[in-house]
Amino acid sequence: MTTCPLCLVCDRCERGEHPLLVGALRHAFVVLGDNQGCPGWCVLVLRRHVEHLDELSLDAQRELFGEAALVARAVRRVFAGAGAGGGPVRINYECLGNQVGHVHWHIIPRHADDPTPREAVWGWPAARLRGEMSEGERRALAQRLALELRTLTPPPA
Ligand SMILES: [Zn+2]
Repeated sequence: MTTCPLCLVCDRCERGEHPLLVGALRHAFVVLGDNQGCPGWCVLVLRRHVEHLDELSLDAQRELFGEAALVARAVRRVFAGAGAGGGPVRINYECLGNQVGHVHWHIIPRHADDPTPREAVWGWPAARLRGEMSEGERRALAQRLALELRTLTPPPA
């Protein structure tokens, strides 16, 4: 039994039991992040447990980053024109691994009302990181992102 929290996320996605699943791509599952202080924040989780990005083949590294960029495009489309200041002004791509040693990317939209637009989000208080969206709003957003991502994902060959 694995104790890696991201392996558990993958297990739930594979069984169709993750309530915030955004997409199942070739290399990664995409879920709406627990932190929605930046609405639309997604996490791409490599489908298998690998601790270091450089342990993947170069092709897999490239394709994984391609998947990250695809998710960013879906986020930008969903939020295009939303809010007073329009869609996200910036997307942060972060592959850190400091908390969980399983390759994953954070795709973090930084919206026009971002309180610290020139800094990384990690210094924010936990409540601000988590955001105020209800569970229902989180599920609805995950579904909107999933629909958008599906339009961008090439059909299987
Ligand atoms: Zn893992």
